[in-house]
Amino acid sequence: MPIKAFSIHGHFYQPPREDPLTGIIPNEYGAAPYSNWNERIHQECYRPNVELHNFERISFNVGPTLFNWLESHDPHIYQQILAQDAANLHSFGVGNAMAQAYNHTILPFASSSDKIIQITWGIADFTHRFGHQPKGMWLPETAVDYETLGLLARQGIEFTILAPWQADGDGLDSTEPYRVQLPGGDSIIVFFYQGDLSARISFSTDATADAEIFADIELASQFSAEKEKRGEDQIILLASDGELYGHHQPRRERFLAQLLDGASAHAGLTNTFPSLWLKTHPPRKTIRIRERTSWSCHHGITRWTGECACTPVEGRWKSYLRYALNRLATALDGLYFDTIYPLIPKPRSLRQRYIHVMLGEISPEKLIAEMATHPLTQDQIWRVYLLLESQRERQRMFTSCGWFFEDFDRIEPKNVLAYAAHAVRLARLATGDDLSPQTRSDLRHVISPRSGLRADNVFSQFMARSWVAEDNLSISGPQANDPG
Ligand SMILES: [Zn+2]
Repeated sequence: MPIKAFSIHGHFYQPPREDPLTGIIPNEYGAAPYSNWNERIHQECYRPNVELHNFERISFNVGPTLFNWLESHDPHIYQQILAQDAANLHSFGVGNAMAQAYNHTILPFASSSDKIIQITWGIADFTHRFGHQPKGMWLPETAVDYETLGLLARQGIEFTILAPWQADGDGLDSTEPYRVQLPGGDSIIVFFYQGDLSARISFSTDATADAEIFADIELASQFSAEKEKRGEDQIILLASDGELYGHHQPRRERFLAQLLDGASAHAGLTNTFPSLWLKTHPPRKTIRIRERTSWSCHHGITRWTGECACTPVEGRWKSYLRYALNRLATALDGLYFDTIYPLIPKPRSLRQRYIHVMLGEISPEKLIAEMATHPLTQDQIWRVYLLLESQRERQRMFTSCGWFFEDFDRIEPKNVLAYAAHAVRLARLATGDDLSPQTRSDLRHVISPRSGLRADNVFSQFMARSWVAEDNLSISGPQANDPG
């Protein structure tokens, strides 16, 4: 009998919520009776899905910012997630967890070196937690281009997951993975998820009301009868936000458990996950991808840089915000390289390796000493450290959530400016150069279409605040263990 396999992928992610100066999440009143959204989603989704062993039986990725929060908020549940991947590694030699590009940056908008940092940091974060190398990496918003795929392949990533409309050309068969040939001779495997049914589990509560009906009718009908007749194995992959199972849709963690516990087997379906499937089913076909596309905008990746029908409010603020932060990033890099290059001959490599400081695997002093060609003074070490922290905020300010929603006057875009202000402040402390006038000037065009709130004013408020906390800064201070 040919195998009819399926895999459910859950993308578990929450943006950074903590104040960059205190490391504390401010109260979020919409999340009542919990004090913030992370706590609420934890009770509704992460915890019950762990307790039902769902993490062991789906394909999943957990964003580093969320993992970081879980690790400190509920270490037991956090360890259980790792253990559920480890159980697969033990049984099958491959785990079911995937890595994620670190700051949930829309990678096609990022420079080559930023793409490398995001991928390197994502792999390091995964390896630190799970204790083995990732085989797959989830791309934020599944936003893709060939350069990104090439960098994934070069770092040993074997596969990713994309939406069906990200395949180039007609006739996509989403019952098998494909190989994508990359410039330079590398290649990477892509699983294209089943689009209609993934949308139905996300947005139609009827679809997931009954696991047996779902397995017998909805899921079973996705397989190709032709292929079955020919005796060919097939896999259907469904992908969605993991938070839908219990948070966006109440009690759907139980639907998921029932589907995986028996309903799918009863329907003659085999549960699997991508890296396990690939052990016995290498891709047979190649395909090209459509660059600068994503899973949650049907206008390419316009949603994160301008106006599109996904967010029907005047969206010019998004392009101005991206322009301002790109200019700031370039200026911050200038200060970073000018200051560090005379002290450390490989500033790019230093920046990539800084993730090991963020993960608490090595002290900043030790990393800096390892990479310097000669012993540095305390003052030099301090300035290198400040610039590395500034670079960390510079990466964080491109978190995609800053551009996802319709209006500028929301917590997510303001958070992006909080990180930008912190990056400017740290760079100023290290070098004496103040990038805030240029940034303020660039941000004056970013205006909320609803409330008229201006980004230059928000940025100024964060800058003013940031001086208050300067006394708290130390090389072993709270920020050294607060990646995200
Ligand atoms: Zn759109």
